[in-house]
Amino acid sequence: MKIICVGRNYAAHAKELNNPVPKEPVIFLKPDTALLPKSMPFFYPSFSKDIHYEAELVVKIDRVGKNISQKFANKYYSELTVGIDFTARDIQQECKEKGLPWERAKAFDGSAPLGKFIAKEKFQELEQLNFSLKINGENRQQGNTANMLFSIDAIIEYISQFFTLKIGDLIFTGTPEGVGPIVINDHFEAYLEEEKVLDLRIK
Ligand code: MG
Repeated sequence: MKIICVGRNYAAHAKELNNPVPKEPVIFLKPDTALLPKSMPFFYPSFSKDIHYEAELVVKIDRVGKNISQKFANKYYSELTVGIDFTARDIQQECKEKGLPWERAKAFDGSAPLGKFIAKEKFQELEQLNFSLKINGENRQQGNTANMLFSIDAIIEYISQFFTLKIGDLIFTGTPEGVGPIVINDHFEAYLEEEKVLDLRIK
């Protein structure tokens, strides 16, 4: 399986990192080793001094497809959750300045913890879905899919031009504003609407 991530999918987040608002989705990949086994903490890696959290809505693909049109994209997924796109911001900054790929900053081991998946039928409107991240009990990020620059279905149309989507592939759909650094002993809790889907400790 593969993990496909969208960058800069919320205008307010693009702005907070001084990035332009993109005209088409910004895409990058993480390998399957980026998944963090459930019940494991996230261990702060020694190669970075500035790991940031990015809470994102995650879609799980459950049907094989290529060149999927936006109109039919909703037939290719049935479950959603919230995940964290951990980012070594110091390495990413260096990569950006040198025009280098982002993998060392984005795709390292454990950089894609996932919450538990929830059937999309549970939600009335995927176009107005709330998700949020609390750290140590304090609200840090609040997202709503209505603020996405590219909707879930538009993202699937876009990426399936380049990559065949397979069963089990995951799409991280981008983070809203409010990203920031993590600290050892932080306690992360992520919610999809009212339901807590992720509970993670930083060690
Ligand atoms: Mg992200």
